Amino acid sequence: MALGEFALIDRYFRACGARRADVVAGVGDDAALLRVPDGADLVAATDTLVAGVHFPHGSPAASIGHRALAVNLSDLAAMGARPAWALLALTLPEAQESWLAEFAAGFGALARAHEVQLVGGDTTRGPLCITVQLLGFTPRGTALQRSGGRPGDCLFVSGTPGDAAAGLALVEGRLSAPAALHHYLRERFEMPSPRVALGERLREFASACIDVSDGLLADAAKLAHASGTGVEIHYEALPVSAALEQAAGTERARELALTGGDDYELCFSVAEKNLAAFTQEVAPQRWAYQRIGVLRASPGAVVLRDGSVMQFSHSGYQHFS
Ligand code: ADP
Ligand code: MG
Repeated sequence: MALGEFALIDRYFRACGARRADVVAGVGDDAALLRVPDGADLVAATDTLVAGVHFPHGSPAASIGHRALAVNLSDLAAMGARPAWALLALTLPEAQESWLAEFAAGFGALARAHEVQLVGGDTTRGPLCITVQLLGFTPRGTALQRSGGRPGDCLFVSGTPGDAAAGLALVEGRLSAPAALHHYLRERFEMPSPRVALGERLREFASACIDVSDGLLADAAKLAHASGTGVEIHYEALPVSAALEQAAGTERARELALTGGDDYELCFSVAEKNLAAFTQEVAPQRWAYQRIGVLRASPGAVVLRDGSVMQFSHSGYQHFS
């Protein structure tokens, strides 16, 4: 059923996500008017999802809405920021009510969970494409950056990377797995949980942080490069979910953990002198992170297995094709 643009915005996006006291004017005026707290730095990120590029054509609308916000939440998490306001630029081939209702429900549920209010956007007709801009805060001068790592800092990753890449491969029929594993892995691609609360805890302890969207190895290498260091990852230490290991096998599971992509976990470094306080106050069991390596003085990224360097020539995506 077709719907006019005004009615569409009114019905699905005027009251989407949390309701925040710092929004002076939200959806409905020419621009959003937002009150930045005293003593805060404003942290801003934007990310675009294109149908057929960043998600398969025909993905569930709720997943598309969820992921469009999640990828931006993950970027703010990597800065140690608390998210607050989102803008949504939506390009749609047609205004289909059931699709819009599901999309807004997926976006809105994740927004409410993180106290994010949708405060504006733009709606246009064209091939399906979603751009979200997300704004948030850190106490002034405390944001995490990629560049703060030093040789000798320990490297960590949250969660179990590789699951999402396997989930996408299942959706696209490049991998098969029993129903129970299928459900878990597919959820990890379609409904990722960005580590916003962990990012905020890391402000006090981490020297550098990046979110894992392009594959752990590539993103750890970016962190190291920005920090002017190299990085060494220990193959045996990679955290791999039981589901991924069962679906893909031990070897491929670890390759996917290193190279898969779409994880939206955090990869971060902690200086040796902060390690004891960090693991005490941000318990690894509760916050689900694991030590996987170390930053080192010599540049480049290497994976060590039984003490010797492993070679990686291509990404996990290509392994299934
Ligand atoms: P204009 O073109 O005059 O700026 P629009 O019709 O684009 O007005 O938007 C009207 C209002 O609705 C604006 O406040 C805008 O921020 C908001 N808006 C438009 N599309 C969306 C959307 N997809 N999600 C949230 N807010 C939107
Ligand atoms: Mg407009």
